[in-house]
Amino acid sequence: MNAYVTGLAGGAAVGYSPRPISRIEAHIRSNVFDRPTLVLDPAVVAENYRALKAGLGRASIHYAVKANPETAIIDTLIAEGSHFDAASKGEIELCLARGARPQHISFGNTIKRASDIAWAFDNGIRLFAADAEEEIEKIADNAPGAEVYIRLIVDVTEADWPLSRKFGCARDKAIYLLELARRHGLNPVGFSFHVGSQTRRPQMWTATLDQVAAIWHQAADAGFELTLLNIGGGFPAFYGEEVTPATAYAAQIMELVRQRFGKVPRIMAEPGRGLVAEAGMIAAEVMLVSRKSDSDAHRWVYLDIGKFSGLAETIDEAIRYQFITDRDHEVTGPCVLAGPSCDSADVLYEKRPVHLPLGLKAGDQVIIRNCGAYTSSYSSVGFNGFPPLAVVVL
Ligand SMILES: *Cc1c(COP(=O)(O)O)cnc(C)c1O
Repeated sequence: MNAYVTGLAGGAAVGYSPRPISRIEAHIRSNVFDRPTLVLDPAVVAENYRALKAGLGRASIHYAVKANPETAIIDTLIAEGSHFDAASKGEIELCLARGARPQHISFGNTIKRASDIAWAFDNGIRLFAADAEEEIEKIADNAPGAEVYIRLIVDVTEADWPLSRKFGCARDKAIYLLELARRHGLNPVGFSFHVGSQTRRPQMWTATLDQVAAIWHQAADAGFELTLLNIGGGFPAFYGEEVTPATAYAAQIMELVRQRFGKVPRIMAEPGRGLVAEAGMIAAEVMLVSRKSDSDAHRWVYLDIGKFSGLAETIDEAIRYQFITDRDHEVTGPCVLAGPSCDSADVLYEKRPVHLPLGLKAGDQVIIRNCGAYTSSYSSVGFNGFPPLAVVVL
């Protein structure tokens, strides 16, 4: 997953070292773009799938479609044998239309419209997530007899992009929901959780796995023969801070799972970012470089892409992208980086400024690395008249 060497630390140009140029970067450098454009290489997705699969072993991979729903990515993953985790009718329709089999698609959102559950069931989907009484009732009414797993809340996370308390139920409720599902004629098969997106090291999973295992064993003691453990996503991508390579990472997670759960009949994982982030780079452009006053220590650099046009994960400066310019051999200095829209929330990095070449100026191309996840799918349709992120597939 980490085929790149980094020479992008910022500061003076002394440590600059050339990197191998990927197919994606070569394409961006040799083309002119009239608006921010995400360039994707499906071959990298296939590579990442194989690397994760090698570590996950018998666990099945359900790609979290929301990370990037580009049809070329879905096609590539179907060819690799991937399964899919869909959050909506639209995502299920997409996967089915590209040829995924319904028994390989889970409806993993815990907040589903009743008519969408019925539609999914009619189309062969048999595996659903729930974390509340009403959701169990909706599934029982609209997908009678289906398999359901209960999503558990994760309140210990070391992820760069935590998923907080929006999803999942607490331990005291989990077993009750299994019971409720059974009473409603559903098949309660197990539990799911999400450790938090961009969890950089396998060791960061241990507290979450401990919590989930405690509930798993409690359910077994209560007489439930659970057959499915859904370990969710969280597999990291490289954004400048060191991450464990994919195969070793996945193998270590499986070992941590084995130590705590023993032999679980079915394990599934739902990677999103870990499969697609490194398969894309964005071609962007500097719109303006300025200083607020002559004594201002920081330059402001405004790009033609911002929070509303693809870089939503810069909220709270959570995900720190890396930037490549044609001037990376020059001396760099700190800047506040911002998007082009007339919304003052559209500042990307200010608390921790970004180091960019001092010679940077309007019109310069900027390449944003490892942007294949949660960019095009997060881009607004055209806030403030800026078009949605364009996508080019190699
Ligand atoms: C978004 C999501 C994922 C993917 O998470 P990554 O951190 O991108 O791997 C997996 N499972 C569920 C339920 C999700 O909502």
